[in-house]
Amino acid sequence: AKQSTADGFLFYSQEMNRRSRERLKLEGALRRALEQGELSLHFQPQLCLTSHRVVGAEALLRWRHPEMGPIPPAEFIPLAEETGLIIPIGQWVINAACAQARAWQDQGLPLVRLAVNLSSRQFQPGLPQQISDTLARHRLTGDVLELEITESMLMHNSERVVAMMEEFQQAGLSLSLDDFGTGYSSLAYLKRFPIDNLKIDQSFVRGLPEDANDSAIARAIIGMAKALKLCVIAEGVETEAQLRFLAEAGCDEIQGYHFSPPLPADEFAALLARVNGA
Ligand code: C2E
Ligand code: CA
Ligand code: CA
Ligand code: CA
Repeated sequence: AKQSTADGFLFYSQEMNRRSRERLKLEGALRRALEQGELSLHFQPQLCLTSHRVVGAEALLRWRHPEMGPIPPAEFIPLAEETGLIIPIGQWVINAACAQARAWQDQGLPLVRLAVNLSSRQFQPGLPQQISDTLARHRLTGDVLELEITESMLMHNSERVVAMMEEFQQAGLSLSLDDFGTGYSSLAYLKRFPIDNLKIDQSFVRGLPEDANDSAIARAIIGMAKALKLCVIAEGVETEAQLRFLAEAGCDEIQGYHFSPPLPADEFAALLARVNGA
């Protein structure tokens, strides 16, 4: 028995070693990715269920490594958060979204709001100034940007966070609560924080319309959002049946593969011109 424990430990530490080497390798690669221009943004349209127009897009980070190929955000975002690389990467994302909005405006495309995801580590006192500098550099006003934050960010330092959120709203930006329903969400939260939009997490959308629990939860979130005068958007909408359920329940906007996957900038622009009319 002793022997196997020792073997187990040896295996365990070898496995740990292998993993930490992999991590180090990926961290180095991610550091270079930023300098080498391997990062890009894809844009997933958000469709308004009443006007049937594209009213916004979520900017989603993409990384294509020259040898390893595309690496999903689920793999590199947590690493970027742990290492602090999310700070320069997050800055890159905001700048790239603004640069894209400027380019589309110059091309005469109807401008829609771009939502960017924020990690909690980015939510620091310097952020409002940094964002307003970026907007100014691209000659844009705040209403072009939406910030997606998660409930976990609201759990710490709430006074500081509320002050920062109000600063964003005064600058014209809107704020979305992402992955709603998966964290420690409560009505108290929504009352305390200045939020414009609620995004129903895709885990509640998946079972619609058959699953009775998902249906009840989706209806409850939509009803609550309405009562609080928040815009509610469902993510991960993959089927016509899900879309129909959400439209009937009074959901404002949808995002998901059913309407469109996240698209490269030029494809998004083409879709925007087609759906909204140039
Ligand atoms: P998220 O913010 O919840 O983004 C939605 C994810 O759902 C995206 O995955 C999107 O591609 C995917 N999705 C969209 N429609 C559907 C659908 O109909 N069905 C399904 N199953 N999935 C759908 P993605 O692009 O892989 O991003 C994963 C996560 O990585 C994001 O989740 C977000 O938390 C994070 N992320 C992505 N870009 C950034 C970024 O620029 N900054 C930060 N901090 N996080 C980011
Ligand atoms: Ca929106
Ligand atoms: Ca998001
Ligand atoms: Ca989400």
